[in-house]
Amino acid sequence: MGTETVAEYGAEVEAPPRPPALSPSRAADFRRCALLYRFRAVDRLPETPSPGALRGTVVHAVLERLHALEPAAREPGAARALAGEVLDALDPGERALLGEDPGVDGLLARYFALEDPRTVTSEARELRVEAELADGSPLRGYLDRLDTGPGGLTVVDYKSGPAPSVHAEGRTLFGVRFYALLLARTRGVVPRLRLLHLADTTSLTLRPTADELDRFARVLAAVWAAITRAAPTGDFRPNPGPGCTWCPFRDRCPAHGGTPPPYPGWPGDTPATSATPATPATPGTPAPLPVPRPRSAEPSGQTVGDAP
Ligand code: SF4
Repeated sequence: MGTETVAEYGAEVEAPPRPPALSPSRAADFRRCALLYRFRAVDRLPETPSPGALRGTVVHAVLERLHALEPAAREPGAARALAGEVLDALDPGERALLGEDPGVDGLLARYFALEDPRTVTSEARELRVEAELADGSPLRGYLDRLDTGPGGLTVVDYKSGPAPSVHAEGRTLFGVRFYALLLARTRGVVPRLRLLHLADTTSLTLRPTADELDRFARVLAAVWAAITRAAPTGDFRPNPGPGCTWCPFRDRCPAHGGTPPPYPGWPGDTPATSATPATPATPGTPAPLPVPRPRSAEPSGQTVGDAP
């Protein structure tokens, strides 16, 4: 999350801008519509979060802080207190978006029905991981939580929405496969993946195979190659479809009678081809308030880990 994204949500924390890299959300954007990708990753147009996305951001922030506590302190009362702190740190406009009942307590109660956080051993929370594919394509993602324990290295991904239908499963698994690939590239280990769907108290656990990740890496390499071809001239074309219903940039889209802003050029002029090693974990160090990393909202209200 760079300066530009933090500013979108009125937060006061600033981070230096980073060159674009593929994240799960941006890769999914490009696959859905190249112009949508451009608006988010290159123009970095501001977006107002939906209530569902904002609720997901709050819940993620609470769980991040909860798991930074000593195990014995990770109780429902502590989570409710942290929720109060996180909600109080929202700016008034965002807080108003969530209404009288922000719906956070219910999601947290369902979280406690899914696991007992006192038994969790996590190595890191909100861990930024960067890697590059064999062809130099840069990848970047944030892991909600990285657990160690009897099941081996496990990437835990919180979803504020329900478990996906068969039709939408591919989109959800796209994100966690991306995290598995990041871990495989940086640590040489294919992790277990665990999705916690808070809306319907469902958990899903899977472990991709090395072959699956190889195929997935080829898909991502093709996406990055297409982005780098379009980057010099800004030839990111609209791809109208059902997803336009939820697109926040319809009024700027030529497929809907709008006019995009002038192409600002690729950040730094040269599509990124280098990457830095995984960010070291900092156990026990919660991120500063106010609410961190915003999330992209899927129509179902699920949230997807993001990196511009
Ligand atoms: S409105 Fe549709 S075609 Fe236009 S940018 Fe958004 S997703 Fe793409």
